[in-house]
Amino acid sequence: MKFVADSMVGKLSRWLRILGIDVVYVSSGDADEIVKISENEGRIILTRNSDILKKLKGHRVWIYFLSSEKSEVQLKEVVEKFDLWREIKPFSRCSVCNEPLVAVSKEEVRGKVPFYVYQTVEHFEKCPKCGRIYWEGSHISRLKEKLSKILGREIE
Ligand SMILES: [Zn+2]
Repeated sequence: MKFVADSMVGKLSRWLRILGIDVVYVSSGDADEIVKISENEGRIILTRNSDILKKLKGHRVWIYFLSSEKSEVQLKEVVEKFDLWREIKPFSRCSVCNEPLVAVSKEEVRGKVPFYVYQTVEHFEKCPKCGRIYWEGSHISRLKEKLSKILGREIE
């Protein structure tokens, strides 16, 4: 299941990506662009912008309106509505680019991560698009805790 989201639900998009869900984020919020991406790539539109409705005529797209303004509520709503539980793979995707992460050797990240991290962490992943390096650290543990709390279910 894939989504395209607009600028009004930026935080939701980031959280979904952190959970490993494929979300293209259109920061301009351009309705034509969003409809085009949705139609071409078979992505469900996530939005709070009712103007998009006016653009749908003649297009075969799915759209889902978020009822709440709160990103916590939106996240729970989307996960439950689309039954995404089995698709959740936390930290498997770059939260900035939406690109799936690839494993990289420890050697490859030498000098690119803090020395302490290099010394203590064995497994690293990298975004092939922006080059960001990810590893299991306290930041990720805290995010997992937060997401588990929002979803009312343990995120592994
Ligand atoms: Zn990236």
